[in-house]
Amino acid sequence: MASVLIALGGNVGDVRATFAKAIPMICGMTQAALTARSSDYATPPWGDEQQDRFINACIEIDTGLDPHALLFVLHRIEAKFGRDRKSERRWGPRPLDLDILTYDDVRFEKPGLTLPHPRLFERAFVLVPLAEIAPDRWIAGRTPSAVLADLNTTGIERLPPLT
Ligand code: ADP
Ligand code: MG
Repeated sequence: MASVLIALGGNVGDVRATFAKAIPMICGMTQAALTARSSDYATPPWGDEQQDRFINACIEIDTGLDPHALLFVLHRIEAKFGRDRKSERRWGPRPLDLDILTYDDVRFEKPGLTLPHPRLFERAFVLVPLAEIAPDRWIAGRTPSAVLADLNTTGIERLPPLT
């Protein structure tokens, strides 16, 4: 089994309801156990700022799938929630984005999949939820809490649990 950290994001539709359905779907379709789940966070849009704010969260799962099979399943789940990669613009609005942040200590760069996720350490909207569930995890020689200390987290708001 591999321990995997996954980032969830979205800004189209009821994203918190999407997460609530997508997380059990991820576990079901990857035969995984959910070992941690962060709070949901409202975060300012990044890349393309002329769009609605995002909701972001991170989860940790234990799965037997290899990294490419896992990404394939994650893309299928994104599509189930209405994501159409062919018609969207880069970093534009999307109902659900699922990224593999880390897969055990695996490090590689292949077409379509880089581990750890190449933009992980630039993005406060990923690191804030990640630091909630794995603050001291060594990822390519750094930890989320240390990297986060040097990033601007303005506008990132932790949301209370859904009742
Ligand atoms: P982003 O996640 O950076 O906002 P996209 O979701 O549009 O952007 O993903 C762009 C591409 O990144 C995907 O087609 C995918 O193949 C690739 N990719 C590379 N490494 C990863 C990873 N670790 N997790 C998810 N996607 C990845
Ligand atoms: Mg993505």
